[in-house]
Amino acid sequence: KSKKKLGMTTLIFIGLFLGAFTGIILYYFVPGGYMRDTVLVDGVFYVVGQGFLRLMQMLVVPLVFCSLICGSAAIGDTKTLGKVGVKTIVFYLFTTALAISIALAVGTIVKPGLGLDTAAIQTQDVTVAESTTLTETLLNIIPTNPIGALANGTMLQVIVFALFVGIILAKLGERVEVVSNFFAQFNDIMMEMTNMVMMAAPIGVYCLIARTFSNIGFSGFIPMAKYMLCVLGALAIHCLGSYSALMAIFTRLNPYRFIRKYFPVMSFAFSTATSNATIPMAIETLDEKIGVSKKISSFTIPLGATINMDGTAIMQGVAVCFAAQAFGITLTPTDYLTVIATATLASIGTAGVPSVGLITLSMVFASVGLPVEAIAMIMGIDRILDMARTMVNITGDAMCTVIVANQDGALNRDVFNSK
Ligand code: ASP
Repeated sequence: KSKKKLGMTTLIFIGLFLGAFTGIILYYFVPGGYMRDTVLVDGVFYVVGQGFLRLMQMLVVPLVFCSLICGSAAIGDTKTLGKVGVKTIVFYLFTTALAISIALAVGTIVKPGLGLDTAAIQTQDVTVAESTTLTETLLNIIPTNPIGALANGTMLQVIVFALFVGIILAKLGERVEVVSNFFAQFNDIMMEMTNMVMMAAPIGVYCLIARTFSNIGFSGFIPMAKYMLCVLGALAIHCLGSYSALMAIFTRLNPYRFIRKYFPVMSFAFSTATSNATIPMAIETLDEKIGVSKKISSFTIPLGATINMDGTAIMQGVAVCFAAQAFGITLTPTDYLTVIATATLASIGTAGVPSVGLITLSMVFASVGLPVEAIAMIMGIDRILDMARTMVNITGDAMCTVIVANQDGALNRDVFNSK
């Protein structure tokens, strides 16, 4: 069985690299035309890639809903649930603040915005985010219509309602056995469906990546190379440095083993730039390969995909330094603190779908009076960074999940340490 699993990881890895390779070849060496553009890129790659993505998205709401009901019913008492919840949220906020601090440090030291050749940068129109107030964001967690929340996939609202149902199922016990069994069985169905859909992952990842790369011109990267390297560098420091340190300190487990096992989910996040779509795969992988009980992951993973965006915060931190340097604006220590606070909050408000981090960036810029025009410079090359930061976004969720599960005795260390 483990051989088969290992095969899957390898296959996804191959899909990722072959996809990137195919995309680059198509962009540079295959002349545009009906066969390349219509049949291959917008035909086969688009249909297969999006088909796979949609299959994954199809799983998200029912899986989160059922597994969270089962998870909270299994934990049972509200006190334990509250403890897990508070710990998770504190952890998420802390890692996000740490992430931006790293990004600000990298941005201040490397100075990606200094001496920028603005003429060489392809700009795009910017749409400024209608920023919602904090009170509104908080109130929005409570669904006025749970069915509407399910239908629209409003994740935080789904989480709240599912928690209620789970807690009450545990409280009423035998009286609601039929409903309990229904959700437990439906949960099994969703897990099985996730397994089935994941079989298509290597091909899906291949097509998604091939299409993205065949549309990306790398020439736009050159004037922005310093900025991009700063973002990628800070992402790497956070993912390989901070996460590993936190995991080693809190769990005494090997963080690199974790990253190796979690790689399929990371590559799926990379190829789709969508945290939300990775939820089913994340819960499944954490359960089967890493040994985290679904009791915990069914709560922490969807929550993290919605509110915990360390990668996005890193991009925003570097972007702040970049814009300030490019426009010759000096940031004060208070500005830095403001950025850390706003970007942490913005990360909560950033939905786990492509490019949203760029929209909430306008909020961060506004908080310290940076010109939104700077976002236009970043936009052209954001897609590739979006892919990379989404990968870090979901890795942060999983890392925190492992730590919380370990503390609550919901981590099977033998499974974690297995090959
Ligand atoms: N694409 C990111 C995600 O889904 C959000 C963003 O930074 O745009 O996690």
